[in-house]
Amino acid sequence: MGLSPKIERMSRLLLASNRLPVTVKLERGRVSVKPSPGGLATGLWGPHQKGDGLWFGWPGDMSKLTAVQRADVERKLAELRTVPLQLSEQEYHRYYEGFSNSVFWPLCHYQIDKVSIDSKDFDAYHQVNERVADLLASAYEPGDVVWVHDYHLMLVPHMLRDQIPDAKIGFFLHIPWPSSEVFRILPWREVVLRGLLGADLIGFHTHSYMRHFASSVLRLLGVEARMDSVDFEGRRVRLGAFPMGIDAREFAALADNPDVLQAAAQIRHDPHPRKLFVAVDRLDYTKGIPRRLLAFERLLETSPELQDQVRLVQVAVPSRDAIGSYQTLRRRVEELLGRINSRFATPTSVPIHSMYRSLRRDEVVALYRAADVMTVTPLRDGLNLVAKEFCASRTDEDGVLILSEFAGAAAELGEALRVNPYDLDKMAAAFKQALQMAPDERKRRMRAMRERIFERDVHDWCRSFLHALEQVGSTEQTPRPLLLRGPALDRLVGQLREADPIWLFLDYDGTLVPFAPFPEMAGPDADLYELLEALGRHPRIRVYLMSGRMRADLEKWFAHLPIGLSAEHGYWIRSPAGEWTAITELDTEWREQVIQIMGAFAERTPGSFVETKTTSIAWHYRNCDVDFGLFQAHELRAHLTETLANLPLQVLPGDKVVEVRFQGVNKGVAVHRILGEHFEGRAVALGDDRTDEDMFAAVLPKGCAIQVGYKVTQARHRLPTYTDARAFLRRLL
Ligand code: UDP
Repeated sequence: MGLSPKIERMSRLLLASNRLPVTVKLERGRVSVKPSPGGLATGLWGPHQKGDGLWFGWPGDMSKLTAVQRADVERKLAELRTVPLQLSEQEYHRYYEGFSNSVFWPLCHYQIDKVSIDSKDFDAYHQVNERVADLLASAYEPGDVVWVHDYHLMLVPHMLRDQIPDAKIGFFLHIPWPSSEVFRILPWREVVLRGLLGADLIGFHTHSYMRHFASSVLRLLGVEARMDSVDFEGRRVRLGAFPMGIDAREFAALADNPDVLQAAAQIRHDPHPRKLFVAVDRLDYTKGIPRRLLAFERLLETSPELQDQVRLVQVAVPSRDAIGSYQTLRRRVEELLGRINSRFATPTSVPIHSMYRSLRRDEVVALYRAADVMTVTPLRDGLNLVAKEFCASRTDEDGVLILSEFAGAAAELGEALRVNPYDLDKMAAAFKQALQMAPDERKRRMRAMRERIFERDVHDWCRSFLHALEQVGSTEQTPRPLLLRGPALDRLVGQLREADPIWLFLDYDGTLVPFAPFPEMAGPDADLYELLEALGRHPRIRVYLMSGRMRADLEKWFAHLPIGLSAEHGYWIRSPAGEWTAITELDTEWREQVIQIMGAFAERTPGSFVETKTTSIAWHYRNCDVDFGLFQAHELRAHLTETLANLPLQVLPGDKVVEVRFQGVNKGVAVHRILGEHFEGRAVALGDDRTDEDMFAAVLPKGCAIQVGYKVTQARHRLPTYTDARAFLRRLL
């Protein structure tokens, strides 16, 4: 199975992961470099080989090699089209063992007490990510597709986006994304979120990780996410759940291999046959090994008739053993093994057989084949491949899988016996239930899980992700606005200065001043006064402030300036030093009804308040709890839309505000009224939110629309913040 034809033909795949999928070996002075397919590499090696792509990552420790051997390795790596990222000892310690595995790993697995924060680790993480982004950028050719993997490289998407704004970038997270309440502990939480949001597509193993991510983005960046996308910095970032698969066919074939079957028979061979429990994990505190051992002890304790009738083979693969918390875990496991074994041993047998080493794949599969009960009971696990591999290996459709509800794979493997690893009694009860399960039931459950695992294998996973990445952007109609800086900014300023006059339509809040907690606090400063005065006095510039605010606010602040004003989203217009005129007559019977509804919401939603104007009533929720505020905003909009269905009113979502407005009046109508039908010169509109889009539509296509900020817009130009907007206006003088 390959990728979709389009990707195969047109795009080159640039992959980046912490580790390159190769094993460098030194034997009798000679080096060899071989592909080492593990979970990720199995799925990606095919597309990598096919598409002429490149794979960037750390090849392993090469410090013991001579210069000649090293050159040899580099040549061999290049033949495999892999590009090594060398890590110094210090970098390995701080970037990999430090930030990646002593901060981010425990945090995402809800092991808060194991998080060990040191800003030097994050500095190293930042630097290594920067180097990966630079490597990708220098290899990048237009049309390439970039796929960055896992928590070691979360800053790369944004760093690469900065260098290549149009690159197609995917990111996949192989570990859980925790609840936003846990994620927010991270001191660099905003940097990490921004880093990831540089991608076009962010993939997770489950919907629940995706939901937690969206809520982290909302709570920490204040950016609202939909079910499957977030608009960030003017781009749409897609979110998706892509539970990773395994190479099921390969496991099934290996499981039927006669040597493997013989090895399985040997494992089962027992002078006094006992039921066999198996567990295979890295020795990691997320895997729940101590609790599993305790549950096994509980089983022997509460069902004495099972003593000497059951045994457990526990494989613990050495992992990250330079990190203190892993050393503590090892001691704890050994202590438990010693205690339980000596407690339940007989002169001829011990209940738990433990191995602390890594097994070859065929040895692991022999264990899968031999097991009566496979126990996969992590406290948290992004997915867990062992659970899927066990099922794929059971071509005999037998064996029972016990699976923690905290493993990502539990979302797909509903037929497993699900356990909460924190509940020892229930876990022991599930062990017993597994022993007693009738062969028919075992078969039914196993068959259903196998079908799904074969259908959604690792090749399908890879294809779906790349297909989704390929789709990104293809449905967006409006072209992205051009960021005004450097030559682009000079060019536009140059063109506008030729116009006579330049009509400037300027939104106020968010465009010329930043938002404040309360509207009355966002008054103009001396610098802005000076700027507006200079613009207003310029012989070839006409200025109108186009605000949603009331006349009184604008008058109080700006009446003394030589500029035009428009209040309440275009309803009122006042030419420089003139009188206010209304754009149309208004029927106001609806007002009381809306004020009542919004008032009720304001009472129920702490921090929110109602603002009443001539043409609109607004409910503001800027100072509320973000989640609750957003929830209430949705409710209010639904409620208002229904209640006001037959009236000439519009219900509009704004920036942390829901507004009901008289239809037929907007900033665009006001711009037309001010300019008249035939006007001289060029119109320029600057605004930051949805209500400014009408103004943009009114000045386009001949004029110039500039969005201040990073929202999705029809404007053709963009300035990041109000300070950039002021600098731009100053240049027109
Ligand atoms: N594995 C192995 N040798 C061993 C034990 C495990 O090759 O002695 C493999 C196992 O087959 C699986 C992987 O290691 O493919 C473990 O993946 P999993 O998702 O279960 O856990 P992770 O180690 O990624 O947290």
